[in-house]
Amino acid sequence: MEIINRRQRMASLARKLRRENKTIGFVPTLGALHEGHLALVKEARQMSDVVIVSIFVNPAQFNQSADFKNYPRDLTSDAAYLAEYQVDYIFAPEEKEIYGENFSTYVYIEGLSETLEGASRRGHFRGVATVVTILFNMIRPDFAFFGQKDAQQIVVIKRLTEDLGFDTEIIVAPIVREESGLALSSRNQRLSSEERQKASIIYQALREAKIAVRDGERNVARLAEIVRRKISSEPLAQIDYISLVDNETLAPVDKIGEHAVLFAVAVWFGNVRLIDNVVLNRRQ
Ligand code: AMP
Repeated sequence: MEIINRRQRMASLARKLRRENKTIGFVPTLGALHEGHLALVKEARQMSDVVIVSIFVNPAQFNQSADFKNYPRDLTSDAAYLAEYQVDYIFAPEEKEIYGENFSTYVYIEGLSETLEGASRRGHFRGVATVVTILFNMIRPDFAFFGQKDAQQIVVIKRLTEDLGFDTEIIVAPIVREESGLALSSRNQRLSSEERQKASIIYQALREAKIAVRDGERNVARLAEIVRRKISSEPLAQIDYISLVDNETLAPVDKIGEHAVLFAVAVWFGNVRLIDNVVLNRRQ
């Protein structure tokens, strides 16, 4: 496994791999790796000749400087972790490698960037879309792997890939959870042990909604109410949003019909903001 810091080197290596007809699987991350990331790496290992993982805490996607500053960073332990899973290359650039001196070109996906996470985190998806475009352009992966945990991110990236004509297949891996049901996240490290334990209520609430759909509930307002009531029963939890939207267009829906519905929530526990989701449809 080799760690690459320079953009030029990453691009020329990717060119060489393509000339050799090797398929490239790419897993973009912010580091602070856990088993959620690992699931993507394992999938990439199975599907591709060469696996590249990027580790870059992308300033452009953080809307709060404290969150950016406090984001856990430990390249040494991330590299040790990845070495065990036959990753070929880690791309870990410094900020100036990605955002040069007079950087001023951004990618913005209209219509999908301002709802849900985009409403709570202004500019987040512009930052995500911009860095993913830079990375895709540099690496030109055959497959790129993303977690369902960040459901809106997947919708945005799929749109971007199609609109800009990248020859990259987007592969989505299911959410990896702690035993309690809490979705794994690098931000979980910042929860107290009590908060971490109590945060499992988020998934319990989403599961109740899923069961309600299975039992015949189709009304979105009532499903949202089930989840709101359950999460609100936990005094440490502060709901940011509870949203049911079309899983492709992110447009609000009022009932569970033929199309898959994304049931997404964001909840504060102390100063940590957690997100989770389930996908619902009539055939639940
Ligand atoms: P991040 O480092 O938070 O940007 O995450 C990098 C990738 O890992 C993204 O595609 C995430 O959706 C994915 N990921 C993070 N947490 C999980 C999880 N608990 N289950 C599945 N995928 C995850």
